[in-house]
Amino acid sequence: MSFDCDVLIAGGGPTGVTLAVLLAKRGVKVIVAEKEGAIYPLPRAAHIDHEGMRILQEAGAADTVMATCRRASRYEFRNARGEVLLCFEGSDRIGPGGWPGANMIHQPSVEQALRTSLAACPQAALHGNWELGAFTEDAEGVTAEIATPAGPRTIRTRWLIGADGARSPVRKALGIVFDDLDFEEPWLVVDVLVDDPSRLPTTNLQICDPKRPTTCVLMGEGRHRWEFMILPGETPGQVSDDAFIARLMKPWNVEGAVRLERKAVYTFRARIAREWRKGRVCLAGDAAHQTPPFAGQGMCSGLRDAANLAWKLAAVIRDGAPESLLDSYQPEREPNLRATIAMAIMMGEMVCTTSRWGAFVRDTRMRIGRALGKLPSGPPDYPPISAGAILAGSAGAGSYFPQAIAETGTKLDDAVGDKALLITRRALAGRVAPFARELGGWLDQHGAEAVLVRPDRFVFGTGTPETLRTAWLAATGIEPPSPLA
Ligand SMILES: Cc1cc2nc3c(=O)[nH]c(=O)nc-3n(C[C@H](O)[C@H](O)[C@H](O)COP(=O)(O)OP(=O)(O)OC[C@H]3O[C@@H](n4cnc5c(N)ncnc54)[C@H](O)[C@@H]3O)c2cc1C
Repeated sequence: MSFDCDVLIAGGGPTGVTLAVLLAKRGVKVIVAEKEGAIYPLPRAAHIDHEGMRILQEAGAADTVMATCRRASRYEFRNARGEVLLCFEGSDRIGPGGWPGANMIHQPSVEQALRTSLAACPQAALHGNWELGAFTEDAEGVTAEIATPAGPRTIRTRWLIGADGARSPVRKALGIVFDDLDFEEPWLVVDVLVDDPSRLPTTNLQICDPKRPTTCVLMGEGRHRWEFMILPGETPGQVSDDAFIARLMKPWNVEGAVRLERKAVYTFRARIAREWRKGRVCLAGDAAHQTPPFAGQGMCSGLRDAANLAWKLAAVIRDGAPESLLDSYQPEREPNLRATIAMAIMMGEMVCTTSRWGAFVRDTRMRIGRALGKLPSGPPDYPPISAGAILAGSAGAGSYFPQAIAETGTKLDDAVGDKALLITRRALAGRVAPFARELGGWLDQHGAEAVLVRPDRFVFGTGTPETLRTAWLAATGIEPPSPLA
């Protein structure tokens, strides 16, 4: 039986569409089956970090997203009296990904930018109103049944990706269960259109008031977001009522400055699927993990999954890499997710305290932490990849490779493309001369003669060019890159 595509992706959310673009750009034939006819319209992500922006850059969507992003320099956690308990500063500064650290967005606009990129890829097609049903796997591929408006269709694919969201039918069909990380809180989310920005906060805020824990953050241009914790005894229907929302908004004194655009009730959860790959099927994004939104990392994590999977799937499909390369996907990504979720739970527990005594203890601990200079001034660094397709033990292996920016403003990835890079000291006077200061600094810092950077911009390893090329071939089964001239 011939194949309709190399990769069938169930789910046209940000994870699925990003993965589709990154695969199609590598020459992989992709079909995205999305059960809905339009982009999900309700409030979800409001923040994307510098690493996420770099992945959107590769997907050709970053400039469009950036055009309507807004930034706050501070993310403050305040108690009921307005005292600052914790503050992350400088989130508008350029991060290691080569983009500002925190970018406030409107998720449907990001998804639209990704879909526009996808539409420009002849190798990929996204079909709305296509719902994946049952699928079966054999030695060569997967046969999937899809319900379409024109009737049932069978799609034959080499690989199937479940990027089908938190309720993931693909995950359920595979019988994969979650590790529940024990966080479950119901919140109301309210997005508004802004008529008078001068009356709105310019800082991202968590109001840790036990009477009503509340979030107030910027979004993409023209919008602002409030989130209110639903208290015991309140029902989703009650809190979603416009009059109730108006009462919740009253203390913010924004009547006449904003108009309600959309609202939704969610239960924020923290869960990680036990297995992210079974045979020819992988899970990505919310299908594989869910985090409370306090660190703004759910969509960003899905983009990281896409970047990790894209080059490996392309290597297996196009370049003859062994399928075992895909075994590195979960061991590389899961520790990053666990750290991300731990940070979000830490923030969530600070915010979601509803007992006065609990809030008093928290505030006292924060005051002492501040006096001792022990409070973080920004989110913690994620752990580097410690097991997977890396040259373990070499300096910098598994760490995130920063995106250098030339004096002209050109970004490294735009100059060198999306393949693996072998950067030697000789290259600093040649191809990557405009980035020599930052790249040379990185090599000096790691005492390295050369660095091999993976296509997802994590460091494979450092050493001599010959050692790196030999180790790369052994680890990935694909042709190593030549040193940049
Ligand atoms: C209130 C809130 C605030 C958030 N804030 C942030 C934030 O600031 N930053 C951040 O990074 N993240 C944030 N997130 C998380 C972010 O929205 C999600 O992590 C992200 O949307 C997940 O993307 P995804 O593509 O993996 O899944 P989804 O966006 O859920 O997409 C899955 C898609 O699969 C489709 N699908 C399901 N079943 C099938 C099927 N059988 N066949 C075909 N298609 C199917 C669905 O229709 C859906 O379109 C927030 C979430 C919430 C709720």
